[in-house]
Amino acid sequence: VYNILMLQNRFHLIGFDADDTLWHNERLYHDARARFRAVLAACGAPYEEDDIDERVNETELRNLEFYGYGISSFVLSLIETSIELTSGRISGTDVRELIQLSKEMLAADVELFDDAADTLARVGAVGPLMLITKGDLLHQRAKVQRSGLADYFRYVEVVSHKTEEIYAGILQRHGVDPSRFLMIGNSVRSDILPVLQLGGWAIHIPAALSWSHEHADVPDALKDRCLVVDRLAVLPAVIGRLRQSSAAAGAGRD
Ligand SMILES: [Mg+2]
Repeated sequence: VYNILMLQNRFHLIGFDADDTLWHNERLYHDARARFRAVLAACGAPYEEDDIDERVNETELRNLEFYGYGISSFVLSLIETSIELTSGRISGTDVRELIQLSKEMLAADVELFDDAADTLARVGAVGPLMLITKGDLLHQRAKVQRSGLADYFRYVEVVSHKTEEIYAGILQRHGVDPSRFLMIGNSVRSDILPVLQLGGWAIHIPAALSWSHEHADVPDALKDRCLVVDRLAVLPAVIGRLRQSSAAAGAGRD
């Protein structure tokens, strides 16, 4: 038996990813890869563009366990790849250009997606919001401040990885049952799958540009608790319907 209060409290906590969910991010990397290819071409590295991108990607994945996610990690991978692809002939001047590139990325303006602030204001009326983002602690916190969106969030969590264990720990610390948690984000691997596997709910908003590493498929068995939408502005209506239909389906009984 459901009463109106239970319906209204269907979600005790609503999580948002930040990069490429609320603001542009991947296009900075996209532009940086292009500049990296130009640096390599200028030092005469005999490689095709696709090969260079592939090598950068391989280096990044290999380095995740050492440096984690974020721009500092990315630039170390660019420098390492440049050394490999020039057989050690890359100059100090070129390495300095890559370091300069990373500082420009770190200082770049935060450009919000359409309707980000309005959507957070409306979804925040449903339940408390938590920003959950992975990467460099200093940079991610700076972006939250610069975004102008900090006040919409009751909690901000900057994590090194977005795994099932990390989400479980966050929910435990906040006393939230996974079935009462909804996560919204652009990455199936980081924002959607681990939350569904825990028993939570997820809304996937695919971004125009995403790092290939973040792609994954949602198994059919988990699709009941996952929706896909194309933009932030539809979230208030979709979450409203989700609360109704999940109650009608008998989910989240407690
Ligand atoms: Mg993201």
